[in-house]
Parts: sequence; C-alpha cells; structure tokens
Amino acid sequence: MNAAQETSIGTAMKLEGVSKLYGPVKALDNISFELRKGEFLTMLGPSGSGKTTSLRAIAGFIQPTSGKLLIDGRDMTRVPPQKRNIGMMFQDYALFPHMTVLENIGYPLETRGVKREERQRRVMEMLEVVGLAHCASRYPKEMSGGQQQRVALARALVFKPDIVLLDEPMAALDKKLRGQMQIEIMHITRQVGATVVSVTHDQEEALVMSDRIAIFKEGRLEQIGTPRELYQKPRSEFVADFIGEANLLHGVTRSDDHGVVVEGCSWKASLPKADPRVQAISNGRKACVVLRPERIEPSAAVHQGGNGGQGIIEDKIYLGVEYRLVVRMRDGSKVNLRSRDVTSVEAMNAGDRIGISWSPSDIVILGD
Ligand code: ADP
Ligand code: MG
Repeated sequence: MNAAQETSIGTAMKLEGVSKLYGPVKALDNISFELRKGEFLTMLGPSGSGKTTSLRAIAGFIQPTSGKLLIDGRDMTRVPPQKRNIGMMFQDYALFPHMTVLENIGYPLETRGVKREERQRRVMEMLEVVGLAHCASRYPKEMSGGQQQRVALARALVFKPDIVLLDEPMAALDKKLRGQMQIEIMHITRQVGATVVSVTHDQEEALVMSDRIAIFKEGRLEQIGTPRELYQKPRSEFVADFIGEANLLHGVTRSDDHGVVVEGCSWKASLPKADPRVQAISNGRKACVVLRPERIEPSAAVHQGGNGGQGIIEDKIYLGVEYRLVVRMRDGSKVNLRSRDVTSVEAMNAGDRIGISWSPSDIVILGD
C-alpha cells in the first residue's frame, strides 16, 4: 500500500449487481465489486467484454438495467454525469484546440465556479506535478503526444474528483512512449492520491499500473485481485491464460492416502494430504493443472514419479538470459518452459526425450 492509500482507507465506490442489457445482449451481467480510496484499479478483458460499458455506467452516461452504484456511500445510480464528481481522460485526449494549456486545465475549475486567482494557483500546481510548468501558454498542437496526454491527465485531476476514469489511455501512443507514460501516469495519480479506474485490453499495461485488476469476460467479472494474486492463484483457465503465460494440462483426479494426484498420459501433478487445497478436490473428476513456464524444471534424466513427466523437445530457443523450451508430451499437448539454467539446457537438443518437474507449491489445480 502506498502513502496516499494509507491516509484514505475506505471505500470510494461500490457496484452492486450491476447489469446492462442491450436487447438480448448482456453487456454487463451482475457486476459487483468495491473500489478503495486511493486505489488504481484496471478493468482488463478482450474486446466486447464490457469494460467501456462499466466505465460509462460509473460516469453516468448510461443507466444500468438493474443494480446499484454507490460513490462515497451515496446511491448515485440515477444521478446525471455532471452531478457526479468524476474526472475523465479519453484516448484522444479531447483537449480544446483554441485554448492554451493553462486554459484547458483551468476549464473544469471554471465550470465549477472557482475564482480566477485560485484557478491559476491550482493549475500551476498541477502543471508542476505533470512536469509541464514551462508549457502553460502553449496550444495543444504545439505539444507532443505524450505532453498532450499529461495535459489531459492534469485536466482530469485538477478539480480533485472522487474518481478518475481512463479509457484505453495509451491507445494513441507508440509502443515506446506507451511504456514510459504507463509509469508516469501511475506516479502522478499516486502522488495526488487519486482513485482511478482504468480500462485496457493490454495485460502488460494492467500489470505495470494497477493495485488491483478486474478481469472481464463476456460481460461478467471473472476475477478481481492484485496482479500477484491473479498470476499465482487464477480461479479459471481464462484468467490463467490472460495474465502471463500459462501451460494448461488436462487430466483426471485421483485421491489416495497420500493426497491428490492429477494425471495425464505422461505426467502427473500431486498435492500432499496436508495441503489445504486438497479438500476442495474430489476423486475421479476432470481437472486442469496450471503451470507457469518459469516454474518447470527440465532435466536430461527421465522423470521418476512425483510431480512432473516426460516429453520430447520440439523447440529450443536461446533468449539471452534464459532458454525457452517447447516440450511435446505423449498425448500431443505442448508444454512451454523457461530455464535460466543455461549450462544444463545447452546440452539438450531438439528431438531429445527429457524429464520435466515442478514443485507442488507452484501448481494450481482447477476443477471442471
Ligand atoms: P469492451 O469495452 O470491453 O470492448 P463494451 O463494453 O464496449 O466492451 O461492449 C460490451 C458488449 O455490449 C458488446 O457485445 C457490445 O457489442 C455491446 N454494446 C455496447 N454498447 C452497446 C450499445 N450502445 N448498443 C448495443 N450493444 C452495445
Ligand atoms: Mg472498450
């Protein structure tokens, strides 16, 4: 938790069973979650999963078909957008071309009746925060894409909104600038203690910027959690596959005196009886084992018992800091792994039969 969050513990916003129907299309299907004050939350999901619809419902541009939206404990479900204290930054920035940077950032203060001197002071303060104090009298067209974006961000933050909404904030920037701006926007919003909801379909952007990520699929909230929780404890194959790289091995469960085993035709994954996760797994069911590539160890020897299996190296790719291996299992499934043990992997070659192994603490078992 950062300093801004610690000083403002509490709930900024709550969605309770929010649904939005467009004819037969369920754009949002019973969405519930809480946003904490000072938090940076990213909604992540494929195109059409309901991210923009959620953002527009929070802003008040659309009315939910059912469900409730609370901001700072007050029911805002039917309150029009201009009466919600929400800042927005759009992907095309929507700066006023005929206004200087100073006037652009001062605009939301002006519409809220803030006096000229106070306005000037707050805009200059904001310009310092975004590092553009020297650009106050320029026009948007005299600035770079990254600078324009910082002006748009300053304009969304200057009136100290309860919540700031960012819809695909990096979409208009080239790849290199995007990485830079992700970090900059994260720093700026944290510095002023803003509560942010951002939308993206780029998992890396979500991982870089967010305190928590909400993963959307077909109008439903699949899972919400910190980047680490989502990576280490995905609750579905969809989440496992969406955050980072994942191997999904399908097998059948078998419980015995020692614990639980999920078996495929040339591998097995087992949890000891003492593992608390064992209780949730029943015998003789289909299950999926999630394995992260960097958590699988290759070995030249044939795998004996325990957690692991064997297969044939199909591809071996040198990536500088590590090797990437693609191993084909007997049932035809492929396992991707990454090894930093460059010396051992050097001795292995495409076509070789190798053993692979993993630790029970690194696997996630998902029921069918
Ligand atoms: P995302 O932002 O995740 O790409 P959206 O929230 O824009 O997804 O859309 C979610 C679903 O709702 C999609 O199936 C989309 O076609 C549908 N949808 C969104 N807005 C409308 C609308 N105004 N009329 C009809 N269908 C809509
Ligand atoms: Mg969208």
